[in-house]
Amino acid sequence: MPPISDAQRPAPNAKDRRLLAVARGVEQWFKASQRALPWRAAYDPYQIWISEVMLQQTRMEVVVDRHFHRFLERFPDVATLAHSSQSEVLAAWSGLGYYRRARMLREGARHLMRHHEGRLPRDIEALRAVPGIGRYTAGAIASIAFDERAAIVDGNVARVIARLEQIEDPFGSAVFTRQTWALAARLVGAARSPRNLNQGLMELGALFCTPRAPRCTSCPLQDHCHGRASGEAERLPVRRAPAETRALKIDLFVVQSADGSVLMEAATGPLMAGMYHLPQTPGLFQSAGASLPPGPRLGRFRHTITNRRIQFNVLASEPENVADGPGDFFWVDPKRLAAVPHPSYVRKALDIAGLL
Ligand code: SF4
Repeated sequence: MPPISDAQRPAPNAKDRRLLAVARGVEQWFKASQRALPWRAAYDPYQIWISEVMLQQTRMEVVVDRHFHRFLERFPDVATLAHSSQSEVLAAWSGLGYYRRARMLREGARHLMRHHEGRLPRDIEALRAVPGIGRYTAGAIASIAFDERAAIVDGNVARVIARLEQIEDPFGSAVFTRQTWALAARLVGAARSPRNLNQGLMELGALFCTPRAPRCTSCPLQDHCHGRASGEAERLPVRRAPAETRALKIDLFVVQSADGSVLMEAATGPLMAGMYHLPQTPGLFQSAGASLPPGPRLGRFRHTITNRRIQFNVLASEPENVADGPGDFFWVDPKRLAAVPHPSYVRKALDIAGLL
């Protein structure tokens, strides 16, 4: 059958024309206005993967200023990451939080060594088979690293689309998710460059279509945006009532032996596996066969973990009846403290105690 010429194609209807105009608007704006970010220099697939995983729970400035280059210096490629120990990867992830991401990165790297000769595949299904890579990350790597026609919806894209289409279903509901992914797929289908389209949508969400006070008068989509036209943009997307914040007080014990070693505890549970804490409650410690008399308070600080607002008191203490550390407790040489993977609130406590 002979190919259809442009003249023979059916004329786009008004909906298609709007979709095309949105896609072109986003792409042109992105080409002219994009921020210079380190992973945009070469669009190296490994670097795109690392950046996307870091950015999932961490602000852009924190990733760029403190973590991205440092992590790549330590783990410059898939092979290095795959051959490192979990402790090394967790220690390098320190300060980024949500440590499951770091464990899954290493698992993903090991999978890539086994099945893809240490390279990220460009095929979306092969990407989704990599441990830790879900629908969003697979789409991000395929489109941003390889310019493949794959849709992505993160928080920024969801907000832009919810306002553009004036979606009234609650953010995160099944209907909302289905609608936003469907429009993202249609937009990427209409794009000249999926890489520019997807990054442009995310960047628009971060810079113009912000959660509060969207800058509609500067936005390249203002003529196509239903939310702006109705004056409802800032109200969208509709949020369900947030979970109540709980206030807690926790004592953290900085216990040092005569030679200066610091007592730490291996964390348990899926979220913190592989990490180390300071002893937190005298009750727990006593049940492990030792006692922990509270000494002078070294300081205190506030820290928020999801919906818990915690005041940590940092207390010095002398160990009693402790030889090698009972149960899951270990003595750590103070020179090795920085290399032991620990969450950021433990870092703050060690800082207060003058140990880091
Ligand atoms: S016009 Fe306003 S609400 Fe619509 S996409 Fe742009 S910034 Fe967001």
